[in-house]
Amino acid sequence: MTRQMFRERECIHRDEGAEGDFYNGAFYLQALQRLRVDQAVKVASKVSSFFWSDAPQIVVWLCHDCAGELRLNDTPRAVMPASRRA
Ligand SMILES: [Zn+2]
Repeated sequence: MTRQMFRERECIHRDEGAEGDFYNGAFYLQALQRLRVDQAVKVASKVSSFFWSDAPQIVVWLCHDCAGELRLNDTPRAVMPASRRA
C-alpha cells in the first residue's frame, strides 16, 4: 500500500547495509538545488532518479554520508516519520 502512495528511491549504499533514513522527496530536491552543480551531479548520480514533478510523492532513502553531503542532517523536517509511511 505504501508503495502506491509514496514511491521510494534510494542511494546506492543501501545495498551495502549502510544506516540511513527516508527523506521527503521535495526536501531532497531543495537540498540538491542548494549544492554547487558539480556536487549536485555527484550526489544525484548515487541516487536513483525520478521526475522532479513527482517529488511530493517520493521518499528518498539516504545513508548518513549522502544525507550529510546534502546537509539534510540539519533539516529534521525532511525526515519522513516511520508512522506516516506505515
Ligand atoms: Zn549513500
